Amino acid sequence: MNLLDKPIISKEIFKRMEDMSWFIHARIFDDLLIVAQKETNCFVLKTDDGLIVIDAIWPSKKAFDAIVNAVEAIGWNSNDIRKLVLTHGHADHTGCGKWFIEQYGVDTYLSKVDDIFWEKNPVKPNNPETWKDYDISFFIKDGDTITLGDKTIFVFSTPGHTPGGLSYIFPVTEDGNTHMAALWGGTTPPRSKSGVMQYLKSLDFFVKKAVDMRVDVALSNHTAVDNGIERIRYSKARMSYMPNIYIVGEDGFKTYCKVFKSLSYEILANADT
Ligand SMILES: [Zn+2]
Repeated sequence: MNLLDKPIISKEIFKRMEDMSWFIHARIFDDLLIVAQKETNCFVLKTDDGLIVIDAIWPSKKAFDAIVNAVEAIGWNSNDIRKLVLTHGHADHTGCGKWFIEQYGVDTYLSKVDDIFWEKNPVKPNNPETWKDYDISFFIKDGDTITLGDKTIFVFSTPGHTPGGLSYIFPVTEDGNTHMAALWGGTTPPRSKSGVMQYLKSLDFFVKKAVDMRVDVALSNHTAVDNGIERIRYSKARMSYMPNIYIVGEDGFKTYCKVFKSLSYEILANADT
């Protein structure tokens, strides 16, 4: 079949990342909720001692309201939100964190390197909305774990997209069966050749860890790479006898990660330095 091997990253995609007029969500595992706007999404992981939000979409109160409303809509209690774990220091992921701190007093997690990067390199220097607007409670690094109740998130340093980007592996459950989910934190490769080489090194490292930990669930924080909106729509309408579309199998996870290589090779083919 003539399928695309990578998404077409257009200017329109970047515009849509700031569009807070529309959100969608689905409970994709017993303990995992996904909430998305048109291009960017976050996750909420349920533990027996509260909820962990992973990434926070865009710095907009509308994104915050959408995440909280989605939590309530599936019958979870937003007052149980305890932690905000960030993949990297870009505004479309640090997002609406300040409201989580204000309203729920969450602990926040990011690498020290990306905390500095976030402060010094706003996504839009002319738009104060994207400037760093809250503090990080815990700086995390490769090999760390974040535990709340019965759940542990494993932290991996995967620089490339940003200098201190992180990726995560954590268990999720469906009908009593545990699966291992992987979230590659910084979706697109950087523009420079040396940056892409670092990104590819991080990707190889992360895929190896994912294989070791028997990851069989592929997650993304940008919907363009994984048919994200379609997967959410499917999950919302999914019948009990239909498969969970996020469970791709151990080989399937490796296949899925080819998209990040395809995006990298395209840049290497066109980059001068
Ligand atoms: Zn980013």
